[in-house]
Amino acid sequence: MIRTAQLKLKVGHNKDELSKAAAKALKIKENEIADIKIVKRSVDARKKPELYFVYTADIELCREKNEESVVRRCKSPGIKIVNVSEYKMTEPGREKLESRPVIAGMGPAGLFCGLLLARAGYCPLILERGEAVENRQKSVERFWREGMLDVRSNVQFGEGGAGTFSDGKLNTQVKDPAGRNQFVLETLVDAGAPPEIIYEAKPHIGTDILRDVVRNIRQEIISLGGEVRFLTKLTDIFTDKDSVCGIETDERERIDTRVLVLAIGHSARDTFELLSKKPVPMRAKPFAVGLRIEHPQEMINLYQYGRKDIEELGAASYKLTRKLAGGRGIYSFCMCPGGYVVNASSEEGGLAVNGMSYHKRDSGNANSAMIVTVSPEDFKAWGMAGENDALSGVFFQRELEKAAFLAGEGKVPIQLFGDFKEGRMSTRLGDITPCIKGDYAFADLRGIFPKELGDSLAEGITGCGSIIPGFDRSDALLSGVESRTSSPVRIERGEDFQSSLKGLYPCGEGAGYAGGITSAAMDGMKAAEAIIRRYASNVS
Ligand code: FAD
Repeated sequence: MIRTAQLKLKVGHNKDELSKAAAKALKIKENEIADIKIVKRSVDARKKPELYFVYTADIELCREKNEESVVRRCKSPGIKIVNVSEYKMTEPGREKLESRPVIAGMGPAGLFCGLLLARAGYCPLILERGEAVENRQKSVERFWREGMLDVRSNVQFGEGGAGTFSDGKLNTQVKDPAGRNQFVLETLVDAGAPPEIIYEAKPHIGTDILRDVVRNIRQEIISLGGEVRFLTKLTDIFTDKDSVCGIETDERERIDTRVLVLAIGHSARDTFELLSKKPVPMRAKPFAVGLRIEHPQEMINLYQYGRKDIEELGAASYKLTRKLAGGRGIYSFCMCPGGYVVNASSEEGGLAVNGMSYHKRDSGNANSAMIVTVSPEDFKAWGMAGENDALSGVFFQRELEKAAFLAGEGKVPIQLFGDFKEGRMSTRLGDITPCIKGDYAFADLRGIFPKELGDSLAEGITGCGSIIPGFDRSDALLSGVESRTSSPVRIERGEDFQSSLKGLYPCGEGAGYAGGITSAAMDGMKAAEAIIRRYASNVS
């Protein structure tokens, strides 16, 4: 297979032009190409409004052509022979597993851990505190419509995890020599995701499609002998010397197991509290907090593409970082083109926001979190760390979320950026109509944060106006609080993926080893591989 990079074609090109461009690059005739597979597609907007797609493609030649001589003749570093290697299932170990492995949490980490274990014949039992995705959707929509929070099943908790009501961005920075990223993307496509996610530089699914994908993967796990119990929470862990020997669900049922995968996400505060009372080493870690900001999507399209609307490209995204005078930095996070700000709360009396979009990304607004990193030293310095060192980040998040809830009297608190900067309440909207799922109300967002953080956000957003014109416009719409950007704790694990409490496999975002849907899924796979490597699959 010959991999050819840098095939550049104008946006709007037709299908045949790619094979013409590949033939030209390889200095062969078009009919000497047997097959073309797109490996990657990104957008080159350096000469906007002239826009180009840049492709990397794998090309199979017809039988008569010799790959090596074609590549040699091209003399181009962007053209080479590759052996496309696929993800390989781990060989099972020999140790006997008396009872089936249990996975707590069915977000991307738990889902992919469960899928791998099920495919390898380990019949996992998956416990999920929230509802199955079809019922969860009703609970979440009721919450957004009527304001009645279901603490068991919400934007953070339930089948598919925190990413189900999301933009479904699938990019990851994780290096992938073993092919796990490809496996995750291909599995999502097999379960109903759009095939372009395999090659797009910025793949995205959208919450509407993601829900079906998650349900289809669950059905595969069950068809392979796995079991999924919804509305079932892990409430205790039993130990025997330094090993897990069983668990309790909902303070009622005891289940014996020697293998417990903890894929609980970053919002399982009660479970973190349970773990902090067990011999499970964990510590507070830095994360980032801030606000969501909304702008007209056309403004972002104009900045990125030099045009307000480009059907072939869809809504444009952005990524911003900026250093602040005091030494901190601000950056955009989880940007949702054509998306919605969502009330993503999971606790009574606390309010957190996040972003989501549908596959079409057509809400009319672009939103993104603008966040600043905070550390355990900061929570302490601000007197917002609580008593338990390992859970100081949880304490800090809760304080911010309580303040956001009070500020908006239970509704999503919003403020225009101009008013946030000047420290006055907003009284009416500007030209940006909020795209927010859940009720909202004008509030003093600055009052939610320690002064230093409020000042950093004002300075940082103003500075970003010198990158994207209009980013700091006075009617840019802020909402808060963005507090669940990553886990506030790290649950320690060794090279064998286990805690020093043997049989406990902390993984995914909640344990502090992943950030985002794809990396959490890949980390769940690694936990499954560690289990498979050790145990034989004939669970009695
Ligand atoms: P989670 O997805 O949080 O899953 C953990 C699961 O464990 C939950 O379902 C929870 O109910 C369950 N659980 C917790 N405690 C227990 C217990 N004691 N017993 C049983 N079950 C339990 N990432 C991206 O890459 N792209 C995006 O576009 C994106 N958008 C997002 C939008 C929103 C609104 C949110 C909230 C997050 C978004 N993220 C996005 C982040 C992404 O969702 C997470 O990084 C990812 O879901 C983490 O996966 P996980 O499996 O580690 O944890």
